[in-house]
Amino acid sequence: MNDEIIDIAIIGGGPAGLSAGIYASRGGKNTTLFELGVSGGQIVDSSEIENYPGFLEIMSGYDLMKDWPAQAKRFGLKIQTSEVKSITKNETQDYFDLELSSNKYAKAKTVILATGSTPRRSGISGEDKFFGKGVSTCATCDGFFYKGKEVAVLGGGDTAIEEAVFLSNICSKVYLIHRRDEFRAAPITINSAKKKDNIHFILDSKITSINGNDKDGVTSLSIENLKSSDKSSLDVPVVFVFVGRNVLNKPIQSSNNNFICDTNTSGEVIVDLNMKTSLEGLWAVGDVRIDAPKQVVCAAGDGAAAAIDAINYINSKS
Ligand code: FAD
Ligand code: NAP
Repeated sequence: MNDEIIDIAIIGGGPAGLSAGIYASRGGKNTTLFELGVSGGQIVDSSEIENYPGFLEIMSGYDLMKDWPAQAKRFGLKIQTSEVKSITKNETQDYFDLELSSNKYAKAKTVILATGSTPRRSGISGEDKFFGKGVSTCATCDGFFYKGKEVAVLGGGDTAIEEAVFLSNICSKVYLIHRRDEFRAAPITINSAKKKDNIHFILDSKITSINGNDKDGVTSLSIENLKSSDKSSLDVPVVFVFVGRNVLNKPIQSSNNNFICDTNTSGEVIVDLNMKTSLEGLWAVGDVRIDAPKQVVCAAGDGAAAAIDAINYINSKS
C-alpha cells in the first residue's frame, strides 16, 4: 500500500470526472483520477455532438473530449489507468481506502464518484451469443464494417435515432425497430431521421430473436408486430442495440450487496445540490447520480460543483 493520502480521488475519466479533475487540481489539491480505460467517457462513442455550448460546428464525441485530460494535467491532475474495485471508509482514520486493479490500493481524504453508465442489454435471444459478431452498441466503432449494407437499429431514444442517422450516411439502408410508435428522442433528432430516405421505421415491433451462425455471425432478425402479432424476418448482418444505459456503481457496493451511501432503487446515487452523498467525504457526479439530465454539459457542471465543495470540505478540516 502506498502511504500517500490523496486529497481528492476521482473515479472515472468522463466529462464529469475530468471536469472535477480540472477544478480540484487547479484549486491546489493533490488529485488523482482513476480511469479503467481511455479517458473521455461514453461520449467518445458518439458520432456527433451539437449541443455542447461554445462550438458552432457539429463534432464527434472524440473531438470534443480529446483535450480535456491534457488541460487537467496542466494543473497537476494525475491520471492513473486502473479500475477502482471498491471504496471503503476507514471511519477511525477518517480517510477512504480504494481497492484498485492488480491488487493495488490507494488512500484518499475525499472521493468523487464519476463512473457514468454502460449500455443496457435488451435480453433478446441471441444478443449475448452474437455480441461483437453482429450485435453492437457503438455505431461509431462498428458502423464502417457494414458500409453499403443494410443494417438494423433497436430503440427509440436519442442514441438510437442519432446513431441511425449516422449509419444512414454509411449504410445502404437502416431499419429502425422500436416497440412503440412514439419516440423518447428530441423532436429535432426525430425530424432529421424522418428526412432520410434510407431510414425505414419498423414501429410497434419487437425483435424476438437475433439469428445467425458461428461462421457469419448475425444473419437475420425475427420480428413481431406488437399490435397485429404479425411475424416477419429481416435479413441483416448487424443490429445496433440502443435501449438505454445502466449506472456503474460497483465501487460503492459493499460486500453484502448494500451500498456505502444512499441510492435509489435503480442504483443511482442520491446527492444534494453540491453533489454530496449521504456519506461524509464522498460526492457523486454525472450520469451515476439521481436525476442526471445525461448531458455532457451537465456532467461537467456536476464535476465542478463537487470539486469546489470537496476543496472547501478539506480546507474546513485542516
Ligand atoms: P461517462 O461518460 O460514462 O464516463 C464515466 C467514466 O468512468 C468512463 O470513462 C468509464 O470507463 C469510467 N469508469 C467506470 N467505472 C469505473 C471504475 N470502477 N474505475 C475506473 N473508471 C471507471 N450528451 C450530450 O450532451 N450531447 C450529446 O449529443 C450526447 N450524445 C450521446 C451519444 C451517445 C451514443 C451516448 C452513449 C451518450 C450521449 N450523450 C450526449 C450523453 C453523455 O455522453 C453523458 O451524459 C456523459 O458522458 C456522462 O458523463 P459522465 O462523466 O458522468 O460518465
Ligand atoms: P433512453 O432515452 O433510455 O431510450 C431507450 C430506448 O430504448 C427507449 O426508446 C425504450 O423504449 C427502448 N427500450 C428500452 N428497453 C428496451 C428493450 N428491452 N427492448 C426494446 N426497446 C427497449 O436511452 P438512450 O437513448 O441511450 O439515452 C440515454 C440518455 O442519454 C438520455 O437521457 C438521452 O437524452 C441522453 N442522450 C442525449 C443525447 C443528446 O443530447 N443529443 C444523445 C444521446 C443520449 P420506450 O421509449 O418504449 O421506453
